Amino acid sequence: MKKANLKPKHYRGRFAPSPSGELHFGSLLAAMASYADARSQDGQWLLRIDDIDQARIIKDSDKHIIESLEQCGFQWDEKISYQSDSIENYNKALEQLIKIDLSYPCSCSRAQIKMLSENGVYPGTCRDRGIEHNIDNSATNYAIRIKVPSETIIFKDKIQHLCRQNLAQEVGDFIIFRRDKVFSYQLSVVVDDYLSQITHIVRGFDLIDSTARQIYIQQQLGYPLPLYAHIPLAVTDKQIKLSKLSQAKKIDSEIPTLVLAAQFLGQEVGMDKDYDNIADFWQHLCQIWDIDKVPKKEKIETLN
Ligand code: GLU
Repeated sequence: MKKANLKPKHYRGRFAPSPSGELHFGSLLAAMASYADARSQDGQWLLRIDDIDQARIIKDSDKHIIESLEQCGFQWDEKISYQSDSIENYNKALEQLIKIDLSYPCSCSRAQIKMLSENGVYPGTCRDRGIEHNIDNSATNYAIRIKVPSETIIFKDKIQHLCRQNLAQEVGDFIIFRRDKVFSYQLSVVVDDYLSQITHIVRGFDLIDSTARQIYIQQQLGYPLPLYAHIPLAVTDKQIKLSKLSQAKKIDSEIPTLVLAAQFLGQEVGMDKDYDNIADFWQHLCQIWDIDKVPKKEKIETLN
């Protein structure tokens, strides 16, 4: 069994929205939790736009997200980074994984995998087929997977609980470079977080299931492991995640919205009329922020 998590010296957090819609209440929660956690520990907080998956991008939504964050009073350190500027870095990481013989090309289609595996765990069909790596050839029609051993990855989520996942049993060898020539979410976030020296990752519960995969990649590439905290997801009364897909409303930057978000995160911020302006709100929230008060739940209903 491999144990994850190292105690970092300096706090560097981040918010990494995908530009696939407006900033809505659900993404505001992730931004707020990561920001308040960083600032309450005199940490730095970076903003990264996860725009690697061009097919999911909605034109100009990066600008809208940035504008909304500014209006809400968020202040980031350093220049905003874009994943689309980091392709060379992902390439290097992929080459490193190929070099240590941890990855292999896979030509299986989704339908084939479905036929072979009822639970969706990749059965390793292409592991020993010996397909040669040739990522520079745009005509090749395969994905690249990383081999996973039957070991349990354990990490202590700061909000939720002790998490454990056996990747071989629960996921199988997973994709790090997609068939459509896009680096996978799992590989790209790990590389970016490492290069930005991120020490703390505070994000939505929907990503907790990706964490063991990301820790595994970090271990294989020799990266230090950040600490993780997953906040509950804001869902509608029909249990639908508030996301761009469910047409969640764009948030406004009014103090009442910020107060509501902080209350959702379990913080005792009082009433919106207690604050003269947004700066006043942030100063107070960062002073009283207590991550232990964030509800240890997967999701919470909200009217937004
Ligand atoms: N870009 C991802 C998203 O918007 C989040 C990445 C992360 O926090 O690891 O869902």
